[in-house]
Amino acid sequence: MTDQTPELTAICDVCLQAIGDGEGSVWVDQGDANDAFYSVDDSNSPLDFLGETTRSDIVAWRTTHADCGMTDNPYKIEVERIRTWQDFLYWSAHVTGKKWSVATDWRLFTLRSLEPQRAAVGGLRPIRPQGLAWNPIGS
Ligand SMILES: [Zn+2]
Repeated sequence: MTDQTPELTAICDVCLQAIGDGEGSVWVDQGDANDAFYSVDDSNSPLDFLGETTRSDIVAWRTTHADCGMTDNPYKIEVERIRTWQDFLYWSAHVTGKKWSVATDWRLFTLRSLEPQRAAVGGLRPIRPQGLAWNPIGS
């Protein structure tokens, strides 16, 4: 996206190794997200997903090498296109413009990158820590 110095590193959810440019993506199964979004009935609403992080039907964003597995119907962001916070902000605006995104855990995915103490190992991680306390970005 930009020619700026990389600020984020992508770590594979499967093999836990760094993902180089051209080697993988941040992705979500778009079909599953659409199914979850449209599975609502009179008793619930897509808005019920807002703020949720633990629903069993919320669809997870993944970060993987192409060779480590990907669904047949991904909406994907190649890792070389999301290497800076500016890129991440752009993609956040883009992804959250999709109706089905409300049924995904993009918000939690973002928080895991901003607040490394929340994180599992995989995902997008800051290259430079915010200090020895490893405080969240913005604090
Ligand atoms: Zn991998």
